Amino acid sequence: MKNKNRTPLELYIHIPFCVQKCQYCDFLSGPSDQETRDRYIKALRAEIQAVQGVEAYEIVSVFIGGGTPSVLKAEAIASIMETIQKKFCFSPDAEITIESNPGTVDLAKLNAYRETGINRLSLGLQSTDSKELRMLGRIHTYEEFLQSYQWAREAGFQNINIDLMFAIPGQTGEAWRAHLRQVAELKPEHISAYSLIIEEGTPFAECELDLPDEDTEYQMYEDTAGILAEYGYQQYEISNYAKDGYACRHNIGYWKRTEYLGLGLGASSLYGENRFSNTRDMQEYLGFSGNTERIRKDVLKLSLKDQIEEFMYLGLRMTEGISEIDFEQNFGQKLENIYGSVLQKYKETGFLEKTGTNWRFTRKGIHVSNHILAELLLDEE
Ligand code: SF4
Repeated sequence: MKNKNRTPLELYIHIPFCVQKCQYCDFLSGPSDQETRDRYIKALRAEIQAVQGVEAYEIVSVFIGGGTPSVLKAEAIASIMETIQKKFCFSPDAEITIESNPGTVDLAKLNAYRETGINRLSLGLQSTDSKELRMLGRIHTYEEFLQSYQWAREAGFQNINIDLMFAIPGQTGEAWRAHLRQVAELKPEHISAYSLIIEEGTPFAECELDLPDEDTEYQMYEDTAGILAEYGYQQYEISNYAKDGYACRHNIGYWKRTEYLGLGLGASSLYGENRFSNTRDMQEYLGFSGNTERIRKDVLKLSLKDQIEEFMYLGLRMTEGISEIDFEQNFGQKLENIYGSVLQKYKETGFLEKTGTNWRFTRKGIHVSNHILAELLLDEE
């Protein structure tokens, strides 16, 4: 039951620590010592306590992400949970997710998460092939993942996501299909499957990698949806698949532009009418987290044009697409008056389709979605 008098708000809590850096990763994360972790938790709690204007909101979801939140001791996660529970009003059915990696969890830690009210676990697996895992720089084997997954079920997690990655160097289409089936057989409620992107500044960007060619990657993506459908997973976003009723509410809220507040180093927010991101400088964060004005950077009050563009490019990521009715309700103007010609153009080329009052990408369109989304940027008035 949602409280009708309060505005829904999502919380994102960033834990920027990992055991070691993976070869492909450009997230704000890395190894750390215990003293830094302790100081960070203290700073994070100070930031949470200092947030203003929370009376108007009700928390509908929390996502504790990273990094690897599970590198922290269970007591640290419990103290963060206690601080947010004291500070904010929670919806009784709030979805509360923590990201964890095999090699950093055990049964006691997972039991402790459940006791704090965390009800969804996202496990970073990436590959079922331990050789691929080593090459990616992951700290765990497939067998360690299986043990973590079993512990998670034992601890009572009934909503588990598994993160997978395809188009890994040296990977064939056949190998990917086999990995996918292996994971689907475990029956997690949710699977995220992303293709490897080589990001600048990562060790992989410096290497000569034997990456699958474009056609193979295209086929891997198509096979993902096909194989997961056989196991009862529905694709609800470009890279996300879920059993009925288990689509990630936190992510859907983000794509539908529910307000969210990011807490912690580098975390981004859409709070009130503003978008902003916290400082990415650890020393500044540790020193000034209790002064939210000081740590919030790039504060941008969204114009109507910004809001319309966001509505389009976030909403079109979802397989249900965007609704003409929602557009009109949000912006007081008809979708076709603003985007009629571009939507029509891509409908004729078979990249977009209209189902009822919704516009969405076709399968063919998903593969060129970045190019099409770029055309949805509006001219300055
Ligand atoms: S565990 Fe995740 S966040 Fe940490 S380095 Fe690897 S990919 Fe990046």
